[in-house]
Amino acid sequence: MVHEFQLRLSPEQAADLQHVRAHLVEEKGLGAHEITDVRILGRSIDARGRTVRVNLSVRVFVNEPATGELFPHTDYPIVSERPPVVVVGAGPAGLFAALRLIELGLRPVVVERGKEVHERKRDIAQIGRTHRIDPESNYAFGEGGAGAYSDGKLYTRSKKRGDTRKILHVFCQHGASTDILWDAHPHIGTDRLPGVIGRIRGTILACGGQIHFQTRMTEFLLQGNRVAGILTSDGRTFHGPVILATGHSARDTYRMLFDRQIEIAAKGIAVGVRLEHPAELIDRLQYHRSEGRGQFLPAAEYSYVTQVDGRGVYSFCMCPGGFVVPAASAPEEIVVNGMSPSHRNSRWSNAGMVVELRPQDVGDSSDALSVMRYQQTLEHTCWLQGGCRQTAPAQRMADFVNRRLSYDLPESSYVPGLISSPLHFWLPPFVGDRLGQAFRRFGGMSRGFLTNEAVAIGVETRTSAPVRILRHPESLGHVRLQGLFPCGEGAGYAGGIVSAAIDGERCAAAAARYCSTQSPKP
Ligand SMILES: Cc1cc2nc3c(=O)[nH]c(=O)nc-3n(C[C@H](O)[C@H](O)[C@H](O)COP(=O)(O)OP(=O)(O)OC[C@H]3O[C@@H](n4cnc5c(N)ncnc54)[C@H](O)[C@@H]3O)c2cc1C
Repeated sequence: MVHEFQLRLSPEQAADLQHVRAHLVEEKGLGAHEITDVRILGRSIDARGRTVRVNLSVRVFVNEPATGELFPHTDYPIVSERPPVVVVGAGPAGLFAALRLIELGLRPVVVERGKEVHERKRDIAQIGRTHRIDPESNYAFGEGGAGAYSDGKLYTRSKKRGDTRKILHVFCQHGASTDILWDAHPHIGTDRLPGVIGRIRGTILACGGQIHFQTRMTEFLLQGNRVAGILTSDGRTFHGPVILATGHSARDTYRMLFDRQIEIAAKGIAVGVRLEHPAELIDRLQYHRSEGRGQFLPAAEYSYVTQVDGRGVYSFCMCPGGFVVPAASAPEEIVVNGMSPSHRNSRWSNAGMVVELRPQDVGDSSDALSVMRYQQTLEHTCWLQGGCRQTAPAQRMADFVNRRLSYDLPESSYVPGLISSPLHFWLPPFVGDRLGQAFRRFGGMSRGFLTNEAVAIGVETRTSAPVRILRHPESLGHVRLQGLFPCGEGAGYAGGIVSAAIDGERCAAAAARYCSTQSPKP
């Protein structure tokens, strides 16, 4: 017999399957020797009450062997002799587009400006030592895209757009922990993501696909109103329909599209700061326990949202037990972001704290590049305030709210270092004033959250794409150019690893439909 149960357990019980079995025997009346297997289907933490509980949904096999795979595997056929589709960018959108093309019997030719994921790690590590940003290899550019050195959070609100489970299954097939299949807030961790990405590359190459690193697309090959391929920085050409998955930091691509009068539009983003607290402080607040999270609970998460003067102000991309990282993609700019290892065990917890910004808030909304320029100016101002290095300007949280320069700063996970700076003074009032008000409210919602033990670090600007590349809602192709499929976060149709991956799959299917209309009929 197979039973499914919803269990409500202590963190200690939930952490060990032997305890779960014991609970099933005591509470559900099952015989200890009758239980042949217990599989977890869902796991979430309920920290609303005084006592933290873990909700587990389990499938129990009784007196019969466990059946069924943990997750379905996808078959990837050999496609070496099949028609090519050019995929520009090897972020989640590009990689999942490539895998889906293989499934559909097409040959992906991936072109990526950055380096292979492990080589890229060296360039990222040296930012802290040299303060130098390599414009082709950094936290935004390189195999795995912006998501490679991240928290690897895998939840998305865009479930309507596609098959979220399939994306998680493909990650597991390439070595991600199966915990991501049942955790309410799944994440892979920056220490494990590069291995998973490397194995995805292995699948693409083994099936006859290609990946060209350190190869930057510079132009489209146009035939009338049809994109027939791309030209790259080293003078090579690649032919086929083009899935453009260049991410939200490829400003040169946006400029190229603008100069070629290819239809794009300004898009809203959110900007603000990274807020970093000691992890044990967040654990105490969120779990309502003076002793913190203890041995069996993960570093605590939080999520805040409010409206201030007609704009949303919210926490974004929270990284419990994580690090604040220098995520600029060009010299003379500072951009901060967050990442965490799989165990989320650093001494800090951070999150973006950002204010919604619409194109009309920054000037002429008909100017397609206005939001991008605003973002760029803010990042450059931050770099100047940081002393023309990657040293990030920062202010203690309560000092920021009270508009006081911080006399000193707390210890931080941000490796290039912090410099005390009056963020309240130089952040645009549109952003700074709203953040100040929101911090007061968040402090009211959770006593202890608004504290000088926390530090606000400038600036968080790459929350989503500042430009949308216009595409047909149904064909997913560009509104005017045939054979061009703007894809993922950079095109303005995704935000986050899973939604970018889903969009990659959808664009691959759209490109396959397009190819079938182009093939010569027998
Ligand atoms: C530090 C950090 C932490 C993050 N944490 C999370 C998280 O925990 N969870 C989450 O869901 N999201 C997270 N994100 C956001 C997430 O990474 C992005 O939403 C996602 O990567 C977007 O996928 P994409 O494939 O559309 O674009 P990208 O990942 O940006 O990939 C675009 C790729 O295109 C390449 N490229 C650009 N221009 C060219 C060109 N001209 N020629 C060739 N190649 C080019 C780039 O090098 C890059 O590899 C994080 C981002 C950062 C920076």
